[in-house]
Amino acid sequence: MRNRQPNLLRKTVQIALMTSAILLGLSFRAAHADAVELIKEKPQVTIVSYPDRRQIYGSLSILTGVPWYELAAADQYHRTLQIVKKKTTPEMSGRYSEAEWVGFLNPNPGDTNEVSIALFDGKGRDGSGDGIADRTQDLDVIYAYLQDLLHTTGTKTWKDTLLKHFDPRGVKRIEQFAKIYRTFDTIELNEHAFPLPLRSDYTFHGTWGASRGWGGHRIHEGTDIFAGYGVPARSTCYGIIEVKGWNNYGGWRIGIRDLNNVYHYYAHLSGYAKDLKEGDPVKPGQTIGWVGSSGYGKPGTSGKFPPHLHFGLYRDAGKNEWAFDPYPNLLRWEKEEWQRNRKKP
Ligand SMILES: [Zn+2]
Repeated sequence: MRNRQPNLLRKTVQIALMTSAILLGLSFRAAHADAVELIKEKPQVTIVSYPDRRQIYGSLSILTGVPWYELAAADQYHRTLQIVKKKTTPEMSGRYSEAEWVGFLNPNPGDTNEVSIALFDGKGRDGSGDGIADRTQDLDVIYAYLQDLLHTTGTKTWKDTLLKHFDPRGVKRIEQFAKIYRTFDTIELNEHAFPLPLRSDYTFHGTWGASRGWGGHRIHEGTDIFAGYGVPARSTCYGIIEVKGWNNYGGWRIGIRDLNNVYHYYAHLSGYAKDLKEGDPVKPGQTIGWVGSSGYGKPGTSGKFPPHLHFGLYRDAGKNEWAFDPYPNLLRWEKEEWQRNRKKP
């Protein structure tokens, strides 16, 4: 769903606006870009690059004193909510309705002029510096969204602002994301790894929804990866340790939150990597524990089934959380890691 084809009318309005702005020589446009840039045909699909996004966070940080990774985290959290709503692509465009963007009383629904949009109290802003506040341009939407957050009235601190806009769970997510960004000092954190070392001996199949023997009528929400005791279990993503400890089903288990607001769940471990604690950031391939057969009983129970890693994925939708089949992702991460390894000399 990457195609966004602005209709002809909208395009015409845009070009008319651009042209008139150039002819009038409005100074606010001159501050952003020169006329030649404005006349250039705009691409219909805008895929925002990481450096561009990082730059927006950086410049807003300088203006406001809020650290860039906090801004990046709030933006990313809001993005994950949009993905859940299926309102839009993983990019930002589509976050605002036309009326929200241009202002509810604005007679021009396709308005892309920051000045007139501001006049009608619209949220639209130009973040890309092309002089156009475009609702389908990711950088413009990110900029508009963060400006909106930063201009929250009646709050003294960034934390106050977050509490005003998000429920406690959302605030917690944003704090987790901020810690990940801050730790790795970049927003390019998409790499994944297979949960077990590729050269270890393991087997797995798509076992989604199979019934399981213990604890009643629950269906199997995950993939069992069979391997011997002591094979390392590794983080599949850049994330943060959210949960660590005993659970009657999962035994010694660990849960990692990633930047897409997905919870990566590892169960039946025989032990944890030394010094690893809740709140610690982790990266793909980092050992977090070892395969075992713990669980299905009181703390310490082990050996009731063959050793394996139970791996699950849960998407947080802001208010609720649901499991989805990790098998396709596991296949993909395994393949990607093989390809990465092959590339190395
Ligand atoms: Zn399982």
